[in-house]
Amino acid sequence: MARRQADASIHEFALIRSLADRFAHRAPGLVQGIGDDAAVIETASQAWWHFTTDLLAEGVHFDLKSTPPESVGYRAAMANLSDIAAMGAVPRYLLVSLAIPRTFKQSYIYVLYRGLMKACRPYDVALIGGDTSASKAGLFLSITLVGTTNERRALFRHGAKAGDRIYVSGTLGDSLAGLQLLMSSTSSSLRRGKQKTEFSRSHRQFLIRRHTHPAARVAEGQWLNDRRLASAAIDLSDGLSGDLRHLCDESKVGAEVELGKIPISPACRAYARAIGVSPIRLALAGGEDYELLFTASPHNCDKIDRQARARGYRMTHIGTIRPHRFGIQMTSEGQARPMPVTSYEHFR
Ligand code: ADP
Ligand code: MG
Repeated sequence: MARRQADASIHEFALIRSLADRFAHRAPGLVQGIGDDAAVIETASQAWWHFTTDLLAEGVHFDLKSTPPESVGYRAAMANLSDIAAMGAVPRYLLVSLAIPRTFKQSYIYVLYRGLMKACRPYDVALIGGDTSASKAGLFLSITLVGTTNERRALFRHGAKAGDRIYVSGTLGDSLAGLQLLMSSTSSSLRRGKQKTEFSRSHRQFLIRRHTHPAARVAEGQWLNDRRLASAAIDLSDGLSGDLRHLCDESKVGAEVELGKIPISPACRAYARAIGVSPIRLALAGGEDYELLFTASPHNCDKIDRQARARGYRMTHIGTIRPHRFGIQMTSEGQARPMPVTSYEHFR
C-alpha cells in the first residue's frame, strides 16, 4: 500500500521482512506467502485463491480535510482491487473492518461505504464480513479482498529474467499531482504566484479525479495472466522507483529504465511545468497510480503490443531487466545513473 513517509516506509519493509522471517512458515496449500501483492492458496480444485489486505489510517493514508469520504472508500477498495489485479486474479469477496471515532456521524460511514461499493460494483465483488470498533484517535479502515484464478496460475513479483522488457500501463504521476492540487487548494504554490504557465481547469479536474477515483487495472492483469504474457508483475502503489525495486528484489535481477519512455499525461506534464518541476520526478515518486508494472520475455512483446492495441489498453515499454549486479539504473540522453530510493512524500 502507498505510504506517505519515505523513511517510515523503509522501516516498514524491514519490519515486515523480520516478521516474515520470525513468524511465517510453510503451510499446506500455501503457494505464495508474505512478499507479493497477495497471498495465494491452493485448494483441491484447480483454482487458486488470492488474499490481500490493506490498513488505512486517518492522517497517514488519507486526510479528511482534502479527501471526501466517498473517495476514501473508493480509493481503499481500489488499493485492494489493484493488488488482486497485479496477481492476474478475479476479485470476488470483500471484508471491511472499521475503527470509528465517537465524533463521526453514521451518515459519514454510509458515504464511505458507498464509495467502497461503487469501486467494487463493476467486478461484482460481494461484501461478506468485517469488524467494527470505536477509535480514540482517528478513523481506521482495513480491507481484505479475496480473488480467484480458475487455473493454478498467477502473476508474481518473482519471475523476471535479464533481457525481459519492462512495461507499465496507463500514465504515471497523475495521482500525486492530483493530491498536491487537493492539498494546495487553500495555500497553493500555484496561487502564491509560483505558477509559470497556464494550467487549465480540465487538466486540474483530470488530475484530481485520478487521485480521488483511480482505476485498478483488473482486466489488464487477467489478460496478462490468462495468456501467459508476463514473467512478473506488481502494481504501482508506492511509486515506480519503489515498486520496481520490490519486483527486482523478488526476481533477484537489476533493471534499466529509460526515463524518456515513461508515459506521462498531458495534464501531469502541464502541472509539472506550472510548478517548475520535472514530470519525471512526479512519475518516479508518485504513489497510488495503481497502474501495473510488468515484465515480459522479448518473444511476447509483439503479441503484447498487438493485443493491447486491439483491446484499448495503454501499455508502454519503459526499459529492460538486467542482471542483479547491474542494480537499478535510469538512463536519460545516454547517461545512466542509479535510480533513487524515492517514495511518495519526497516531492510533496
Ligand atoms: P502492497 O503494497 O502490495 O499492499 P505491502 O508492502 O503492504 O504490499 O506488503 C508486502 C508483503 O508483506 C505482502 O505479502 C503483505 O501481505 C506482507 N505484510 C505486510 N504487513 C504485514 C504484517 N504486519 N504481517 C505479515 N505480513 C505482512
Ligand atoms: Mg501491491
